[in-house]
Amino acid sequence: MHQEKIEAIKAAIAAADAQNADELEAYRMKFISKKSVVGELFAAMGQIPNEEKRAYGQLVNSVKQLAEAKFQELIEKVNTANKKAKSADLDLTLPPSNHAIGGIHPLTATRQRIIEIFERIGFNLSEGPEIEDDWHNFTALNFPENHPAREMQDTFFIEKNPDIALRTHTSSVQVRVMENQKPPIRTLSPGRVYRNEAISARAHCIFHQVEGLYVDENVGFADLKNTLYHFAKEMFGKGTKVRFRPSFFPFTEPSAEIDISCLLCGGAGCNVCKGTGWVEIGGSGMVDPHVLENCGIDSKKYTGFAFGMGIERIAMLKYQIKDLRLFTENDVRFLKQFRSIL
Ligand SMILES: [Zn+2]
Repeated sequence: MHQEKIEAIKAAIAAADAQNADELEAYRMKFISKKSVVGELFAAMGQIPNEEKRAYGQLVNSVKQLAEAKFQELIEKVNTANKKAKSADLDLTLPPSNHAIGGIHPLTATRQRIIEIFERIGFNLSEGPEIEDDWHNFTALNFPENHPAREMQDTFFIEKNPDIALRTHTSSVQVRVMENQKPPIRTLSPGRVYRNEAISARAHCIFHQVEGLYVDENVGFADLKNTLYHFAKEMFGKGTKVRFRPSFFPFTEPSAEIDISCLLCGGAGCNVCKGTGWVEIGGSGMVDPHVLENCGIDSKKYTGFAFGMGIERIAMLKYQIKDLRLFTENDVRFLKQFRSIL
């Protein structure tokens, strides 16, 4: 009786086939698993008379081996079929997928160019935190509490701790550098700054500035002017004229706004320069002795100048960009135009 049953299982194993993973699993359940027909043969061992057990065991083992060998064969068959199907999907005549090559963001390119110009005349780079405290952003720079100049630089504070704010200018880095280094200091600090401003074509709550600081013995206004003349010519071209307009900043005395001759009309007057022939690129001045003292530098021995410029402003003038918002909108149609500037 066992003999017949076993012969039938052997025949079923020999005839079994599988085309895919599901059918492989069905085969495993039917012939390999504990509950399979082969498993049942092993379970029936208990009912076999002792003198037949040995012969029965050998027979059932041979069925088990047969079932496993067939299983391996079917696995290989299904794997080979899968590989063939995959290589049939590969069409070597298709055109390659289009990998778009990116470019440098115009603000990054402008920042790099500014750094390059000042590095060549001996300025190093310094960075400071974007989350500042009141001392470094305002008080050390002669913006005492309740000073009207603070109103012009409204930023984002933490209600619980008003001593912490997002920096309104990179001038805070000046303070950090002067607190930690001894003159001579010649440093450039580019970075992101924040103001509480409504976003428009001309203003944003987040933008970039670059700050320059030179402190040493006998640094005078002539050094400031010559440094910025040099910068303007390197950045905007040899024919660029520079003009200084008296102004007020709490941390410099005297202070001056820096204008360059309009790049578009060359000084004749146009929409960009509002008919004046000049456009503003930043502010500058001699570091107020009080600021030097705040940072532990002897103002009797040392003098210095500082300047600050908006990187967006420089990029807008250089590349004739009319809307500040374009820099942060990530519109590839805008960004693509600057691929060739490096
Ligand atoms: Zn103009």
